Amino acid sequence: MKVVLLPGDGIGPEVVAEARKALAAIAPEVEVSEHLIGGEAIAREDEALPGATLAACREADAVLMGAVGSGDYSWTTSNAEDGMFALRRELDVYANVRPFRTEEIDLLIVRELVGGLYFGARGVREDGTVFDTCEYRPDQVDRVLRRGFEFARARRGKLTSVDKANVLATSRLWRERAIELAAEYPDVELDHLLVDTAAMRLVQAPESFDVIVTENTFGDILSDIAAALAGGLGLAASASLGDDGPGLFEPVHGTAPDIAGKGVANPTAAIRSTVMLLDLGLGLAGEAARLDAALDRVAATVFTPDQGGTATTAEFGDAVVAALTASAKELADA
Ligand code: NAD
Repeated sequence: MKVVLLPGDGIGPEVVAEARKALAAIAPEVEVSEHLIGGEAIAREDEALPGATLAACREADAVLMGAVGSGDYSWTTSNAEDGMFALRRELDVYANVRPFRTEEIDLLIVRELVGGLYFGARGVREDGTVFDTCEYRPDQVDRVLRRGFEFARARRGKLTSVDKANVLATSRLWRERAIELAAEYPDVELDHLLVDTAAMRLVQAPESFDVIVTENTFGDILSDIAAALAGGLGLAASASLGDDGPGLFEPVHGTAPDIAGKGVANPTAAIRSTVMLLDLGLGLAGEAARLDAALDRVAATVFTPDQGGTATTAEFGDAVVAALTASAKELADA
């Protein structure tokens, strides 16, 4: 089994280093290699997604990415984020799956990842008008809706489709397709919310949701709201899945330029993404469950600054490895 690590920029390399330690401790048989993406790749290879990186990802069973971006949004040159968008498109990982869990909340957001506003034509007209376009084909909508229905079926059977069907044509298509597909999933209860209402309800009653399925931009924003409710960006993990080819696993957070280089980023999101990689990417459900449990134990006692503590990124990662070793010893002794 091969896993490609893409540390990226800012805190990306700091949190991926801890995920790598955890992966080596739980599944030493997995072959791991690291490649360039984002700002680092532009600096060294002059492109945000070098050919060698893409080739290695295509050959891998799963890919773990840190984050890319410098926070420089000049729109005349290519920027680090282009590497991430290109990788998502090339691997065609159209379903971004983001679980959020606390004592009260148990919510999964399925976000369309390779279409819509972030992938539509954009540019500048002669008169200075700047434009972005949002387009969806019916088959692009269907495949991600199906993922939503399937996850709902495997959980509590409730799917909320989020759109802006009172205004947007793409949202009307979205709602129409959701209603039609619902006939194939009679065991799933489907409802629809406009995105503004969904944002409000997420804040007021997050426990009322099971699975949310939505398009790219709405999913991007709603999942940061959910992350804030469920302990902050340092905790939120994601898996991006296609139909075949490797899945892409990454924390929801970005490169956090405000804390990069200080060694204080919370690696939980990256390690939780590794749990998803073991389970959904490599089919190692037992190893995934053991790492998940070790991470839960550490997260209850070791706190990085975003969680009100003073632990460093490496101290947290070392504690996860120690918890894994201790649980392996307990199993052997039992
Ligand atoms: P961000 O997620 O990087 O940071 C937002 C806030 O959350 C910051 O205060 C940061 O310190 C905090 N934070 C994030 N992750 C944390 C962690 N693991 N531990 C502790 N605190 C954490 O979002 P931003 O500042 O809006 O974006 C910075 C850059 O990251 C931009 O260039 C943006 O485009 C990029 N970005 C990349 C990705 C990605 O690669 N998938 C995702 C989001 C943003």
